[in-house]
Amino acid sequence: MVALAVALLSPFMLLQSVAQERPTPLIIGRSVQGRPIEAYRFGTGSNKFVVVGATHGAPERNTQQLSWMLVDWYRNHPEEIPSSVRLYIIPLLNPDGDVLDLRQNANGVDLNRNMDTTLDACSDNDWQTTVYGAGGILSDTGGPFADSETESRVIRRFLLDASAVVFLHSDAGLVFPPSCEDPVSIAFAQAYAAGAGYQYARYWDKYSITGGMHDWARGIDLPAIIPELLTGEEPEFDQNLGGLRAVFHNTDVLIPAMGFRSVNDIPMPLPIWRFWQAHGSQQLGPPLVSATVADGVYIQDFTTARVRYDSTAEFDAVGLVPIADYPLQGTPVDIIDPDSVVTNPSTPYTIHDAFARYYRRIDGDVLLGTPRSDEVLIQTGAEQASTQRFDTGVIRYDSGSNRIVRLPVVWEAVVRDKLLAPDLPFQLR
Ligand SMILES: [Zn+2]
Repeated sequence: MVALAVALLSPFMLLQSVAQERPTPLIIGRSVQGRPIEAYRFGTGSNKFVVVGATHGAPERNTQQLSWMLVDWYRNHPEEIPSSVRLYIIPLLNPDGDVLDLRQNANGVDLNRNMDTTLDACSDNDWQTTVYGAGGILSDTGGPFADSETESRVIRRFLLDASAVVFLHSDAGLVFPPSCEDPVSIAFAQAYAAGAGYQYARYWDKYSITGGMHDWARGIDLPAIIPELLTGEEPEFDQNLGGLRAVFHNTDVLIPAMGFRSVNDIPMPLPIWRFWQAHGSQQLGPPLVSATVADGVYIQDFTTARVRYDSTAEFDAVGLVPIADYPLQGTPVDIIDPDSVVTNPSTPYTIHDAFARYYRRIDGDVLLGTPRSDEVLIQTGAEQASTQRFDTGVIRYDSGSNRIVRLPVVWEAVVRDKLLAPDLPFQLR
């Protein structure tokens, strides 16, 4: 009977039934060409632990194969996930590279050379356009600026609330931590190497890596390692399962819970501090007060924006809160370059020219959201300026300074409320 039933199924249906056995992935974002980037979750612990495969697309396809084998393994062995841990496996961070047979993404950018690595204390790994690639060959594949690529932004967003991350690569047969000193990442790399039977290396010494994901992680205090598989062809499943088991043996140290970081004596939940750091602390300005928390959702005010961290969220845990209406008066600014215009179907307003370039560069989707006004001209004495309101902030360009800045709208609102209700016990720091 079983054989007969199978014989009646078309190959397509068989493929489908095999695919259906896998858990439903979380789509954490899309590649430059629009392909989904998937994460598979196992376990329900509070500490997020992430394994990232195939950042380098086609030539490191064995790391993707390994990731799929790990997905199947943990689906069948959920008891191996420690109770404090929520494991996410991203088998293919660079789906366009996989399809196009490239190491880089569809824009020709090496995703492991594109991250903003100025945040750690080491300067020799800082992001550059000209980078060393596989085999130490120099090329201009670092991207036009740090964090320029869609995939870089997807992984940046997904890791802000992670406790530790493994970036799988091949084929050097060693495990190494970020270049800047970090005792947790060093212990993490040593444990993984011992469990996998790979060599531990304090540094990648073959050529210098700029804009690497592990060094970016160091800059936001996220424990990270790079295991380099020994070969470029084999998934080396047993070795890497051994590496993960060794890490799971010491979760208290290697996969720590989220804490707080203080700035100007104001504590910030670690994911909020990371968001603040990762997007450039001058963007949001300093924190004004401690975070409030209700039902696991933290809200914290900065001078230019209000930040939310939802500790119960599986995805997109940190972001900005829409601001109250902020009236702008002035005449709309003419569009100079029609090719620059950014439109959004949900609003009649557009972003164009210098504001459009700024919006793309800072990842405006995350830091500003949808425009809620046109860009309007305002006159300030002899100088001309223009300004535009968005969901989560207001930006302004001054011809004098030739700079675009976010206005301190949250700080202004706090001061206004304080003036209207002077008896409220509130301390502005
Ligand atoms: Zn690689």
